[in-house]
Amino acid sequence: MIYNVSQLMKSAPGTTLDVELDNEDGLDLREGEADLVGPVTGQLRMHRTNQGIYVDGIVRTAVRLQCTRCLREFTQALEFPLREEFYPTVDVTSGAPVSGPHDADAFAIDSHHQVDLREPIRQALVLALPMKPLHSEDCAGLCPRCGKDLNDGPCGCPPEELDERFTALRALFPDAGNAGDNETR
Ligand SMILES: [Zn+2]
Ligand SMILES: [Zn+2]
Repeated sequence: MIYNVSQLMKSAPGTTLDVELDNEDGLDLREGEADLVGPVTGQLRMHRTNQGIYVDGIVRTAVRLQCTRCLREFTQALEFPLREEFYPTVDVTSGAPVSGPHDADAFAIDSHHQVDLREPIRQALVLALPMKPLHSEDCAGLCPRCGKDLNDGPCGCPPEELDERFTALRALFPDAGNAGDNETR
């Protein structure tokens, strides 16, 4: 995921270079951040801009997640956009340091004229992860009393037990008397 862009930096603004994302270097993911289960692939286009390089494209991988409702683990394919700017730190022809103005969020093209996509991809991947992973949109979750996975069918817990939990609430909030209805099956 490290690309030499010296030729592109020597080209006129507007020049593009298409790259196929390889997986050789892997991502430098932090502990507990994401559990990758597939290669990181994608098609990216590098654009020579007036100031540096702009990269955009699509990145694909797969992650192992845990369902927040039923706690089962599942694999989910991820596809997310990558749009990132890189600015030069040394002039590509003279080798002199470059200290032009640049976006504070932009990444540096290193002194060997290399663009390292690992960190921007890591950041984009973390943003693409679902906040509340669900193994299925209609996951039934676990029974709050007996813990049975309700995706496998109903448990034996009688619905009356559930109602008892709301008795105290009903006394406090008479208007909220229907609070238990959603849970009754
Ligand atoms: Zn689930
Ligand atoms: Zn139950």
